Amino acid sequence: MEENHLVLRGGRIIDPANNFDEVADIVIRCGKIQHISEIGVESSGANTINLKGKWVIPGQIDTHAHVAGISRTVDPSLGYGMLAKAGTTTVVDMGGTGKNLIDGIKRNGAGLNVAGQFALIPGLTIPSDNPSKGEIASTVSDALRQGCIGVKMLGGYHPFSPETTSEIVRESNSQGAYVAFHVGSKDSGSHLGGLREIPEILGEGRLHICHVNSYCRGVVKDSGDECKEAIAILSSLKGQINSEVYHAVANGTNGACDKDGNVIANVPRNCLVARGFEPTIDGMRQAIMDGYASVISVKGGGISYIKGKEALDIYNKSKTMVGMSFPVNLPGSAFNLTTEKDSVGDFVVDAVSTDGGSHPRNVAIQTSMALVRFGAFTPMDMASKLSWTPSRMMGLLNKGHFSQGADADITVIDPHSGEPVMSFVDGDPIMINGEVIGKGGRILVTAAAERTMSDSGVKYQVIDLAESKLYQNY
Ligand SMILES: [Zn+2]
Repeated sequence: MEENHLVLRGGRIIDPANNFDEVADIVIRCGKIQHISEIGVESSGANTINLKGKWVIPGQIDTHAHVAGISRTVDPSLGYGMLAKAGTTTVVDMGGTGKNLIDGIKRNGAGLNVAGQFALIPGLTIPSDNPSKGEIASTVSDALRQGCIGVKMLGGYHPFSPETTSEIVRESNSQGAYVAFHVGSKDSGSHLGGLREIPEILGEGRLHICHVNSYCRGVVKDSGDECKEAIAILSSLKGQINSEVYHAVANGTNGACDKDGNVIANVPRNCLVARGFEPTIDGMRQAIMDGYASVISVKGGGISYIKGKEALDIYNKSKTMVGMSFPVNLPGSAFNLTTEKDSVGDFVVDAVSTDGGSHPRNVAIQTSMALVRFGAFTPMDMASKLSWTPSRMMGLLNKGHFSQGADADITVIDPHSGEPVMSFVDGDPIMINGEVIGKGGRILVTAAAERTMSDSGVKYQVIDLAESKLYQNY
């Protein structure tokens, strides 16, 4: 039998890039797509996997998840296994460090590709919340050197002034770094008000706008009107932005309080106030006991949402320094933002992400399949939002499609259950029927990180962000 020769037989192959949707075989050699063929033509000497009745899409690329963040309570790299189980083959970590990427993939990699965004945390990863131009420039270049592909601004937690935010975007753009923003400046907040500032912050610049659904929770006005305004803002920035939306009702935040017992961050404060709780340690304890707030913690070998008395004990024991979740995302907003198309028929929001990974809400495939059943997505739309468009967002020219020579990254879905049932990276299975068998993985970096990566001993690949749709015609 020939090494590395695999045939995936008789699945329904959905490949938006090639406008192909037919039952056929995929022939893989040496980790690449050799060709798509009629059923049964290619067989001799190959391993064959029967995919009759299954849907086959280019490997799912999650453009917003968490596997390399700075957490005191859970190991974010557990997210690799959780994503592999959920059918993901490539993930963009939205806020960590290069060191965490390297250490985490060694510890808990599950065979996925990962690209990282360096989290900008004043006093920790960037000198202050009022950094000089020189400090911004060196922070961005250090982030690239240590193995991230760019930087992430966490406006809901560590906001900068609009001027500093604008400078971070400008500097990242000029260094060709990817730059992502959980919106909100010191003048606004993690809501529609933060989104309204973006046209001015951005000017002619380029930016990834994170989880647009988070800004349409009905904080500023009726959530339906918030969606309309968000869609108008995003449409006006077409060609300058990448964007994504996630579908889980549960958000992800933290419960940290200051020494006076006040909840520190903007996001959890909003969550508490929205349901009539005080934004204090007592308000948080009450919200936990009422079942509104959950604690994110390791339980039974995996990371899950914990409620009630057990959650309260963890919250108290951790002295409030723990990941938390509130059911504040509105399905209606997620639906509107996911399905809206502009006047020429392009989706306004590029991708469906999870904002998951180590947050237990990796449901992008299931919810996108539900939208197919609902009639809101064609199967092609689903594959575009999960694989093809994300590959263009990140400049991964060899992923997101089944053209000859493409990377054999593949996600297989059971259309009856809507669940991912198998996935492959470079033609090797990393998940079969929910069981994760992938190990290690590959870090996607810019050329600036070659030295760090060759020293690290971890598999890596240099990508060219000039190929990202973010930097097209820039
Ligand atoms: Zn996130």
